Amino acid sequence: MSNEEEIPTGGLWSNGDTPKSGWICEGVNDLGSEHQLCQMCGRRWIRFQHIMLHADHAEVLAGRICAGKMEGDLDAATSRERDAKRKARRRDHEEIDVEWRQSEAGNWWAKADDGWRLIVYTDKHNAWRFMFVKGEAQPLWQRPRYGTADEAKTAAARLFALYND
Ligand SMILES: [Zn+2]
Repeated sequence: MSNEEEIPTGGLWSNGDTPKSGWICEGVNDLGSEHQLCQMCGRRWIRFQHIMLHADHAEVLAGRICAGKMEGDLDAATSRERDAKRKARRRDHEEIDVEWRQSEAGNWWAKADDGWRLIVYTDKHNAWRFMFVKGEAQPLWQRPRYGTADEAKTAAARLFALYND
């Protein structure tokens, strides 16, 4: 048995009034970094808080290991946390990896993964739109129109991150 799978102790685990099973998970908060203690064991610093509910107890924000123990399903807790991490990576991807440059014509473009380029441009009605382009491949035109270049850039990066995940 690895360290991670040991039965937790301390904190609410050692409190006679706290139920040790029968919890359900309501969702996962991403704190961005490990700066809160798991409320169940009070020992482990966690980034992802599993929101645990019980009919006979106040809500507890727990780490993956404790959450898995509380609901009797460590795999479920692990898979929730994997999804939350994936979402966090997508978000980071939008913020970090897309570096926009402006063309002489006033359009914006950015290099993206796998040879794709994101292009943000104004159409003949002066609305901002975007498309994805890759080599000789058919450009992927996107229908929505935006009032500002920034809105179109955000939408382009978000869609690309989803599409490329
Ligand atoms: Zn814990």
